[in-house]
Amino acid sequence: MSDDIRTKLGLRPVINVSGTMTSLGASIVVPEAIAAMSAILPQFVEINHLQRKASAVIARLTGAEAGFVTASCSAGISLAVAGAMTGDNLLAIEQLPDVTPAKNEVIVQMGHVVSYGAPVDQAIRLAGAKAVLIGQATSTHRFHMEKAINEKTAAAVYVVSHHVVDYGLLNFKEFVEIAAVRGVPVIVDAASEYDLRIFLEQGADIALYSGHKFLGGPTSGIVAGNKELVRAAFLQNMGIGRGMKVGKESVFGVMAALEAWEKRDHAGIREREASYLNLWKETLANRPGVTALVEPDPTKNPLDRMRVIISAQEAHITAWDLAAALARGDQPIIVRDHEVEHNYFYLDPCNLHPGQEKVVAARLMEELDKARASNEIIATPFENRSKYRFDDVLRWPD
Ligand SMILES: *Cc1c(COP(=O)(O)O)cnc(C)c1O
Repeated sequence: MSDDIRTKLGLRPVINVSGTMTSLGASIVVPEAIAAMSAILPQFVEINHLQRKASAVIARLTGAEAGFVTASCSAGISLAVAGAMTGDNLLAIEQLPDVTPAKNEVIVQMGHVVSYGAPVDQAIRLAGAKAVLIGQATSTHRFHMEKAINEKTAAAVYVVSHHVVDYGLLNFKEFVEIAAVRGVPVIVDAASEYDLRIFLEQGADIALYSGHKFLGGPTSGIVAGNKELVRAAFLQNMGIGRGMKVGKESVFGVMAALEAWEKRDHAGIREREASYLNLWKETLANRPGVTALVEPDPTKNPLDRMRVIISAQEAHITAWDLAAALARGDQPIIVRDHEVEHNYFYLDPCNLHPGQEKVVAARLMEELDKARASNEIIATPFENRSKYRFDDVLRWPD
């Protein structure tokens, strides 16, 4: 532990049971990508040719006609939207975000306008487009989309995520069908999806992925799809894409991560994750006020998580105070707590190094025992979480 780079830097060695979070450094980068990045860093390359090679690998894995690597999936949204507006018009590309092109409206369902750390609609607006929000938070009907499409519509964006409203909206097939009849390209934000082919197979024109989520690549985004649209998005590197650029190491790192993905022992990884979940289930069994349930991923990624439901009366601590307690100390355990006001959080096994599952189990026991032994119920007002949420970042860098 002493040669842990984080300790040398004076950073706490985080154990991540929350999933793939930008705020924690995304994912564990696979060795193949690390080796690729080291190999290319000292060399000069013709970067557009390197991106041609990336295009071929992306095409092979996604079934797309073409693809390229950018800074993030969020960047991919802006670039794909910009490309849908400008095509290969280099002057229009330079002029963005001032929009002269005739088409500058981008349709998105209101129930899809979520925050992945920044708002979905901002990534659209960043390109100079106008985000046209259709329907309401929990309902979109066909007429909403059909009536919103007009001669100014450049594209329609569909977001796949556990964050989005998962009922009452247009499903992907309907969304694609309505757009296709009217010649509107569909851009899918599939940042955190395992299946690299399904959205293009089902009619998306562009599918966007994060390189640093399930793929275990460097921080990056992948733009894949129809060749003309991908080219138009790629050309934005001479415009708004400049500030979203990736270096040779990220392009080559993503290529290596994609190739490693093809060979990855997916079943073996699931087995390992299942063994972590089993250990935690045993740890939490018969603890007063604690219910542990294994649940599938809401967007059908091949990943199970553990929902830990806390009854504060019996456990003597609220779910959010337990999450906060685990996150304190020399070795913080960061749980998946974005629904914690419902008295539960999740343990996500997908970003653990072997052995860390035991630390998680031990810390859960420690904090639950401590709470049970306390005479009072540990219950800070939930409202404090939102009240103080940004205090730390607003003080940055102190
Ligand atoms: C993570 C995520 C993003 C952002 O991806 P980055 O590559 O980190 O920019 C966008 N959309 C969804 C649905 C996400 O889960």
